[in-house]
Amino acid sequence: MKTAEWQCTVCAATNRLLVPDAATSARDRCVTCHTAHIIEMGTRPVRWSASPLSPLPSLRSGQAPIGRGEREPKVGDDAA
Ligand SMILES: [Zn+2]
Repeated sequence: MKTAEWQCTVCAATNRLLVPDAATSARDRCVTCHTAHIIEMGTRPVRWSASPLSPLPSLRSGQAPIGRGEREPKVGDDAA
């Protein structure tokens, strides 16, 4: 096992996670704000880069959730 150290993109807390020696990416949750992140091994073995696992809702506006579109092309399009 090895230690992956990564910095939270939300609260900037430093987190540490034990991962298998062969691992180059992992998922972890910030110990401080509990935001899920995907972390990937960077140029330095110990310091991993982190990105939020799910997009922050506050940064998105005007985008409809997937699966709730109003267009449904399959319905009634082939009636003769
Ligand atoms: Zn955090």
